[in-house]
Amino acid sequence: MAATTLSRLTERLADPSLLRATGCIGGEWVGAVSGATYDVLDPATGEVVATLPRMVAADTRVAIEAAAAALPGWRSMLTTARARILRRWADLVREHADDIGSIETAEQGKPVTEAIDEVRYSAGFLDWFAEEGRRVYGDVIPSTSADTRIVVLKQPVGVTAGITPWNLPAAMVTRKVAPALAAGNTMVLKPAPFTPLTALAIAELGIRAGLPPGVLNVVVGDVEDAAAIGAELTSNRTVRKIGFTGSTAVGKLLLAQSAAQVKRVSLELGGNSPFIVFDDADLQTAVDSLMASKFRNAGQLCTAANRLLVQTGILDDFVAAAAERAGRLVVGHGYDDGTEIGPLINSAGLAKVERHVGDLLDRGGTVVIGGHRHDLGHTFFEPTVVTGLDPAAVMWREETFGPVAAITPFGDEQEAIDLANDTDFGLVGFVFTRDLGRTWRVSEALETGMVAVNTGRVSGEMAPFGGVKESGLGREGSKYGLEDWLEIKYMNLGGISR
Ligand code: ADP
Repeated sequence: MAATTLSRLTERLADPSLLRATGCIGGEWVGAVSGATYDVLDPATGEVVATLPRMVAADTRVAIEAAAAALPGWRSMLTTARARILRRWADLVREHADDIGSIETAEQGKPVTEAIDEVRYSAGFLDWFAEEGRRVYGDVIPSTSADTRIVVLKQPVGVTAGITPWNLPAAMVTRKVAPALAAGNTMVLKPAPFTPLTALAIAELGIRAGLPPGVLNVVVGDVEDAAAIGAELTSNRTVRKIGFTGSTAVGKLLLAQSAAQVKRVSLELGGNSPFIVFDDADLQTAVDSLMASKFRNAGQLCTAANRLLVQTGILDDFVAAAAERAGRLVVGHGYDDGTEIGPLINSAGLAKVERHVGDLLDRGGTVVIGGHRHDLGHTFFEPTVVTGLDPAAVMWREETFGPVAAITPFGDEQEAIDLANDTDFGLVGFVFTRDLGRTWRVSEALETGMVAVNTGRVSGEMAPFGGVKESGLGREGSKYGLEDWLEIKYMNLGGISR
């Protein structure tokens, strides 16, 4: 009998107890109040990997109560004690990176080596914020009155919620959980319906590391359950903050829902990233970076280059080199040796990519390589390079979230900046040039939260990740990322003079 995804996964796991298939509330592994379940599928084959509870508002309420019950103990724990737990957790995640990566590939589809890298990256947030949590400094501000002293404290927000996407099922979890918990908050986490198993494995390791019951609760549910869970998280007065990574449409909805109680909100939303290659760029660097930023995770990254702007002098060479490299990418199941590109997450993702490519071709665009569903079937799509992208195309306005590099030529620097900023989004801009003056001019002119110069990567636990315009609110990672999970309290102390 042919091996199934589940049998391949089970065979790979050194520690099968990491494969958890229920929610986690108050330190207990629990099903849904209703008893309803749904299936998590391998996007590469459509096979069932696990059956999980369909949790809704009632379950979410119980999780919020558990987080509230855990708050007094957790927020008053010494920061050194919290840091020890988070550091131990980071060590456990690294120790079990192969297992968690295997679980992630089964539900998400990405090559297992890439998944393991992501898991290691996700451990970095736990380490980093374990330490940053010990550096939550206040201030003493000179007063204008001899009788008073002004002191600034930073305190946890309280019970918080994290809602995470399926494209980076490990890193997006720790990027929220680590700063929230390090700051002394407790959390209800709702991972994406397609990829709950990675989040649950990380939660299991958190418990092993010593997280007290209720500090982190995980509520899982199917696609249709997200609205009910989200409505409870945003309307329940106990929850004081929502941290969300996902689509701009859902981000706007959560922001609107949170307005009723003026809840704090951090949002990491869509990008529509320009990738600007100037004539003086190093071609090899630009093409290597395109592989990292456009084709990694099959293009399913909010930071993915979406609009490639290439100066006319280097255009032909760049198109040829990009197509040659894209044509060599190995497409396959994430568990198969050598795979560089897995499937898209689901049929809706595939349909979007086809719609974007179809629209571009209808407008006179040209396929240089790829352009179709892959022979492997399911949700696989060929690594694709197309030319003829222009501002009238759908792809110019929406992120494609697939392995499609679409190219627009430009003449001079100002035109590149104008084209790059011609979007409602502003997450990251990629710039390729060897001219120092141009590096500064273009970086300053881009309306984005991040700029990557001569590299295709921007993320790291030590750097402030986030966008401007409709790409989001707030920053994650770095010392700035901790601020988003803290409240400032100012004390005016009178009666000092004798
Ligand atoms: P995508 O379209 O890439 O799946 P989404 O924004 O729909 O992105 O999903 C990101 C996360 O937001 C997932 O965990 C998803 O279940 C959740 N989500 C979707 N709709 C809602 C909603 N109405 N309220 C709260 N969370 C939601």
